[in-house]
Amino acid sequence: MSVQFKSITELRAMLDNKLISAPELTQESFQLAKKYKELNCFVTMNEELGTKNANTVDLNDKNASTLAGIPLAQKDLFCTEGLRTTCSSKILANFIPPYTATAVKKLEDAGSITIGKTNMDEFAMGSSNETSYFGNVHNPWKKGYVPGGSSGGSAAAVSAGIVPAATGTDTGGSIRQPAAHCGITGLKPTYGRISRWGMIAFASSLDQAGPLARTAEDCAILLNAMSGHDSKDTTSLSSNVPDFLEDINQPLDGLKIGIIKEFDLSDLDSEVQARFEDSKKIYENLGAHFVEVSLPNISASVPTYYSIAPAECSSNLSRFDGVRFGYRAEDIDDLNDLYIKSRSEGFGDEVKRRILIGTYALSTGYYDAYYKKAQQVRRLIKNDFDNIFQSVDILMTPTSPNTAFKFDSKGMQNPVELYLEDLFTISSNLAGLPAISIPHGQVNSLPVGLQLIGNFLREDQLLNASHIFQQNSDFHLAQPSLEGF
Ligand code: GLN
Repeated sequence: MSVQFKSITELRAMLDNKLISAPELTQESFQLAKKYKELNCFVTMNEELGTKNANTVDLNDKNASTLAGIPLAQKDLFCTEGLRTTCSSKILANFIPPYTATAVKKLEDAGSITIGKTNMDEFAMGSSNETSYFGNVHNPWKKGYVPGGSSGGSAAAVSAGIVPAATGTDTGGSIRQPAAHCGITGLKPTYGRISRWGMIAFASSLDQAGPLARTAEDCAILLNAMSGHDSKDTTSLSSNVPDFLEDINQPLDGLKIGIIKEFDLSDLDSEVQARFEDSKKIYENLGAHFVEVSLPNISASVPTYYSIAPAECSSNLSRFDGVRFGYRAEDIDDLNDLYIKSRSEGFGDEVKRRILIGTYALSTGYYDAYYKKAQQVRRLIKNDFDNIFQSVDILMTPTSPNTAFKFDSKGMQNPVELYLEDLFTISSNLAGLPAISIPHGQVNSLPVGLQLIGNFLREDQLLNASHIFQQNSDFHLAQPSLEGF
């Protein structure tokens, strides 16, 4: 019986009914990864340790978690003890961490099996996975098309049915946008819900880990395992973690959904607009009603993000100096030369661009004009959300302005073109709010995503609204043909 395209819930039932054993399931996953090697989803496989862990997982233990024996893939910016962690950068191409990130550790402690580390945009900077040192990832729906980014390898591995779920990180949309482009479900939790310890930092005040899976229900299973306070991350929240599966079946009668007036959808492809209108009708039939809301400062999200994120990255990436981590250039004259050559050779163009912008924005004389100003605008955006959530439960937008595009077609001449991809996703990172992307149909045979944004710590509402939508539609069941792979 094939395990490809099965959800966690389905695999759990197969394991519990002894239709397959944990070691067999893990081997199936490794086989699928090999079969679809050309997708380029994985940077490093974890065959030896993954096999060993699958052989020792005890499914008869009555306290065994839902994740016991379930194969998962981890984005290659989560440190994994003894397993190469590259951030898809040359500068970390040989880095083997001495510890495991809390988010991954929690998943492994629940009995899941890490089968490998997934390809991504270098240091999570990008929206197409094209900045990876390890090459492009193909979208399983169409060869030669991007899977989205930066968690493109994770999204493609889940979409191709190699693993039922994977981890990602989202600084400005990197879980939701690739989930949308690959036709799967991806959740960015509230900032602080999941520990960032052991995640290689891009922009620390925005980065957040989260799950990519085939269904909202499976995202809830992963979120249950990954969430919680961690004394090793000072920004991790101490709030109680509810059981995210508990209220997932609540009826949606009376749910108030806000549509953001400032996002002019009439500029989008008419088919993308049509999918959005269809989904509104589905929600209306489920008892929800829509109101138009105004977030007057939201149109400043993209420039605000592209000031703050590079500023934080220029500081975070200063640790990669050729001395302490990873790549070190050869033929060095002196210390300065070592820094310059190691960083020039170790980082790719997009990372260098961000470091330059960030260093400029933080420099004396420009700090107030750029960084401080951006932080002030960020506060205004957050206040807009606080106001709006007094009168609506959730907000609904498209996840991305368009579907997946061809390799080398966007942002090559003008990076801003690619930055505009993040129009709908970035504001929830700036405000620290949870948001989810669920598939809601296709345009020209490529998946389209629907985004729901929730109030602070209300992942339960997002998962409930997404799960009920998925119980009443079949968009999440669509599978890529994987033609040509
Ligand atoms: N596309 C955005 C960027 O390049 C977001 C990336 C992310 O969420 N990691 O910064």
